[in-house]
Amino acid sequence: MPSASTELAFLPAAAARRLLGSRQVSAVELAEAHLARIEALDADLGCYLHVMGETARSQAEAADARIKAGSPAPLTGIPVALKDVLCTTDAPTTAGSRILAGFRSPYDATVVARLRDAGAVVLGKANTDEFAMGSSNENSAYKPVRNPWRRERVPGGSSGGPAAAVAGGLATLALGSDTGGSIRQPAGFCGVVGVKPTYGRVSRYGLIAFASSLDQIGPFARTVEDAAMLLTAIAGPDPDDATSVPVPVPDFAATLDGDLRGLRIGIAREYNVDGMEPGVEVAVAAAIRRLESLGAELVEVSLPHTEYALATYYITAPAEASANLARFYGVRYGSVVEAPTLLETYQRTRGEGFGPEVKRRIMLGTYALSSGYYDAYYVKAQKVRTLIKQDFDRAWESVDVIVAPTSPTVAFHLGARTTDPYQMYLADVFTIPANMAGIPGISIPCGFSDGLPVGLQLLGKPFDEATMLKVAHAYEQAEPWHTMHPEVSGHA
Ligand code: GLN
Repeated sequence: MPSASTELAFLPAAAARRLLGSRQVSAVELAEAHLARIEALDADLGCYLHVMGETARSQAEAADARIKAGSPAPLTGIPVALKDVLCTTDAPTTAGSRILAGFRSPYDATVVARLRDAGAVVLGKANTDEFAMGSSNENSAYKPVRNPWRRERVPGGSSGGPAAAVAGGLATLALGSDTGGSIRQPAGFCGVVGVKPTYGRVSRYGLIAFASSLDQIGPFARTVEDAAMLLTAIAGPDPDDATSVPVPVPDFAATLDGDLRGLRIGIAREYNVDGMEPGVEVAVAAAIRRLESLGAELVEVSLPHTEYALATYYITAPAEASANLARFYGVRYGSVVEAPTLLETYQRTRGEGFGPEVKRRIMLGTYALSSGYYDAYYVKAQKVRTLIKQDFDRAWESVDVIVAPTSPTVAFHLGARTTDPYQMYLADVFTIPANMAGIPGISIPCGFSDGLPVGLQLLGKPFDEATMLKVAHAYEQAEPWHTMHPEVSGHA
């Protein structure tokens, strides 16, 4: 891999924007550098389910023309990857599932339309666990993703493709979705920045739904500034999504002033579990000390219902998923498997089209919603969800952000948890509460354990991504982690 192209591949979006603006680099060069790396490395890494070389090249040419004309938009010429749960008209959208093999959406997701307006160059559709259900990307019906830091490790999930693509220099930015941690956990495992915005901050129109009351789309980037830029580009109300909230969208990148004096950062004693890796604890403890040395005040907070979050999530999310996935029966959506009767057609289409984890969720969810169990499970979970939210509401009376590990461990080995769903579910024990409460969260790199990245999670008040990003940025700038990249070229 020539070093010039490696340099382009690891250029932050903000720096690329400056070089594009001063015409020191062209959007076509930037796109070609990424496409060359995808060509050389992705057969091994597995980040992409569909590479869009041709459309990327023509978008890059259009970007260069726009720059030449002196009217670039905020992301003009920046190469991005889209998790394959985001609908696009110019490429298939599969959600990592066989049942949607070859599916073409008749419309673009709102976030995709906004990226196009902002001038981004879409490199391709990135790998994901099937219907975003998983924590390792191993539930993808197509192929696993390898962690660019170490090939025998998972990248995390479900947005394993977007996270690994950004970490490995196979995209400058990416969009993923986070229902219980699927942006923050893979960002942590891959050593990049991942943001789950406040529920309602970003339109979900055109996102293939997993659990509609929890799903949010959000950015992956290698720096907080880049993630902030991308969030500004996609956020804001949308008439096509009634749950998107009409609050003003700040220019998030402009509010990163590095000043943490007077900020109160909460440490929740409940964010500590058995099985927490010592290397993760050490890195997170050091990060907390660093935040304090930057002028923040540390305050202990209590989130007593945290211990019920995982159980509550595994009622709520499958319940919503079982309803959302009812539409895939081969008529309107889903590649139909023909059988002698209509019922058998449905059975075979769903039986052969869905993988084992998706079937497990549909069964769990259908059970939790069935009459006789609805009150005991679904309604009870809704009540506990309110308690979890109230824990955070109380915490915000004394702190501005909360700090915690992103995950209890670093990236585990491929295959290590595939036979034990509960072990897999535990990977999200620290990320799920934010989805239950609807609050924003970010994972940023905070060091290494055993040579693998550790993620630091910051949680913010509803619609106060700005403060959360500001704290993340101040920490990032005080540490070297964001400048470190895996040596992926050597394996090509
Ligand atoms: N790992 C969690 C699950 O499998 C979260 C997934 C997500 O956020 N999409 O449900």
